[in-house]
Amino acid sequence: MPVTSNQFPENWKLETGNWKLDMSKLASPIRKNDNVVVMTGKDRGKRGRVLKVLAEKNRLVVEGVNIIKRHTKPNPQRNIKGGLVEREAGLHASNVQLVCPECGKPTRLGSKVLGDGRKVRICRKCEGVVDK
Ligand SMILES: [Zn+2]
Repeated sequence: MPVTSNQFPENWKLETGNWKLDMSKLASPIRKNDNVVVMTGKDRGKRGRVLKVLAEKNRLVVEGVNIIKRHTKPNPQRNIKGGLVEREAGLHASNVQLVCPECGKPTRLGSKVLGDGRKVRICRKCEGVVDK
């Protein structure tokens, strides 16, 4: 029987005859306004709030983390002042973990369907419900 793509979960793709997991498109369970802690890199240990989720790149912009300095030219038409501008650059979702609001620890997320049918994210460490 020939192998068809619908026998494989999403995120798998056929590449030069082999099935590979497409890590770049793995959906992150982390969402906007979550509190996260950085696990790797120069900002390891820093905590911040997720300002933006770039789902298609699986990247996150976290408040105060991965600050880059940019020299900008003034553009009066768009009301942009010249000089050194500091802003957050995105980082890959696999480099951060959610800080559980229940136990305060960095954790991986699971999911659970509540009695009312609502699907929520849960902390793998304390089983606490992350989504209120
Ligand atoms: Zn927890």
